[in-house]
Amino acid sequence: MQIIIPFVLLVIVAALLWPQRRYLFARAGGLFLPSPTLGEPTVESRSVKWYDDYFTIEYIDSQTIAIGEPRYHQHNYNYLIIGEERAVLFDTGSGVRDIKPVVESLTMLPVIVSQSHLHYDHIGNHDKFDGTALPELPHLRRRLQSGTFQVSVKEHLGFVEGIEAPKLTVSEWWTPDSSIDLGGRTLTVLHIPGHTPNCIALFDREHAYLFTGDFLCPGLNVAGGIPGSNINEYLNSARRLLGLLPPETRLLTAHRDKASEPFGAPMLKYTDLVDLARGLGGIIDGTLKGKGFYIKSYLINERIQLYCVNK
Ligand SMILES: [Zn+2]
Repeated sequence: MQIIIPFVLLVIVAALLWPQRRYLFARAGGLFLPSPTLGEPTVESRSVKWYDDYFTIEYIDSQTIAIGEPRYHQHNYNYLIIGEERAVLFDTGSGVRDIKPVVESLTMLPVIVSQSHLHYDHIGNHDKFDGTALPELPHLRRRLQSGTFQVSVKEHLGFVEGIEAPKLTVSEWWTPDSSIDLGGRTLTVLHIPGHTPNCIALFDREHAYLFTGDFLCPGLNVAGGIPGSNINEYLNSARRLLGLLPPETRLLTAHRDKASEPFGAPMLKYTDLVDLARGLGGIIDGTLKGKGFYIKSYLINERIQLYCVNK
């Protein structure tokens, strides 16, 4: 009998957590597997070329390039945005492999790295470059010490894969709503808290591109259950984006969904953002029901799910 009660409790807990298995494995699996093994090379769309046996390259246009990591378990996508005088690398990936040679093969211009947010899978190669642009937010700025910024464990979450939070060398501070001039190409920095307090997107008005980071991706999105996530801020950010962006905007996102064949960079549309805002509103007012126990899964549309803490 003494053994049956814990066993029954274990079965009940496992059953309750089963709907969150993807989230739990993605976010905490590294606790058990410090170095996740790489997946097999994927069969990609015709527009995608393999740089080596790890990175892929896809020209969105002649000056905008998606650098993919389809064999990494989180399927990260980083974007090289090229102007006439310099380029921005928005997210540097997981750090499983060095992204710098890929970038150097694509542009001779000076490259400034920045990040959609400070999670480990977006800043894994920042240390390979000279300097980082951080968003000009008071809670970040006051932590600068001798030109360096220590990313906290809670901001980084790299412990799930045995990766230590790095110190970043800060070369620029990007003020929210300001414009970044790359020479003949301008990006607007948009502060979009929700997934984390430090999330930014870059908006290229001329091309109608929004580089979203983790704010909205095909498949699984996270609006709760990780440090700093906030569903009310998420909704405010989504509504603000809807007010700013033209409906033809393409969303160039940071993670691909395994089920999103044919494979290529993970792109979404303005209408997906409309669905996100509607879904977030429904979660907050209780009209959209989720599956699960504590961290629930909500269906935003046929391609997008959102995880957040029980409402
Ligand atoms: Zn993230």
